[in-house]
Amino acid sequence: APAISFRKIGKRYPDGTRALDDVSLDVPRGQFCVLLGPSGAGKSTLLRMANRLAEPTEGRVIIEGRDLTPRTMKPIRRRIGMIHQSFNLVGRLSVAANIMTGALPALGPARVLAGLFPDALKTKACMLAASVGLDPAHMSRRADSLSGGQQQRVGIARAFMLDPAIVLADEPVASLDPRISSDILALIRDQARVRGATVLCSLHQIELARTFADRIVALRHGRLVFDGTPAELDRNA
Ligand code: ADP
Ligand code: ADP
Repeated sequence: APAISFRKIGKRYPDGTRALDDVSLDVPRGQFCVLLGPSGAGKSTLLRMANRLAEPTEGRVIIEGRDLTPRTMKPIRRRIGMIHQSFNLVGRLSVAANIMTGALPALGPARVLAGLFPDALKTKACMLAASVGLDPAHMSRRADSLSGGQQQRVGIARAFMLDPAIVLADEPVASLDPRISSDILALIRDQARVRGATVLCSLHQIELARTFADRIVALRHGRLVFDGTPAELDRNA
């Protein structure tokens, strides 16, 4: 089964906004698939449907062969890591604690809030921090004392905490200095390869999509308007 399958997805928000219209897309395991489009195209809405942070009003979402429904949502969410545009760290907590909150779907919020992390998770957090290039001396610093690029490294480490099969990255470099955007995307791609994860990543910069994507799916006004490789995109342009 594909890692992610969107079947004839439609979305109308309660205020009447039509965000997605008849979008179908299969993302095979191991692919780095970029959702490309301008602001308002529907990228975020589609991406968030893969872990049911958004619900479709039409169509089905199937994750690793299982229908994503309120009943299957909890176990499926444990298989998915998420990387956010604005990092979504808890600023007053340490870098180490932020990385370990990636284990929340397995531990539950009570233990995470109490800071009760098994030693194995502490070891894992240190290992991930090193693999995304975080300085070990920064592990005990407050997350909000780091630069944006360093904060996103924390966000990436957190997303991989539970060995996710799937990583959703919602405009992961939109809040960053363009000079470090490539470094961060390369890091997401390389971590995904090493850890065998499928990535669905939204971007609005065509150059970055061309450089990093195995496949580009372009959305415009809630419709899928292109689906192919970067080379095919160039031939279509
Ligand atoms: P993108 O990620 O490509 O910027 P979004 O998925 O955020 O696109 O938005 C798609 C469309 O849906 C836009 O017109 C946006 O304003 C609208 N939209 C997004 N979230 C909501 C919401 N909660 N309520 C109403 N409209 C929304
Ligand atoms: P992004 O650019 O990351 O898609 P936005 O700034 O468009 O983010 O949206 C931020 C938040 O506001 C999201 O939770 C989105 O669902 C919500 N939102 C976006 N457009 C609308 C809208 N027209 N009405 C209500 N909520 C919206």
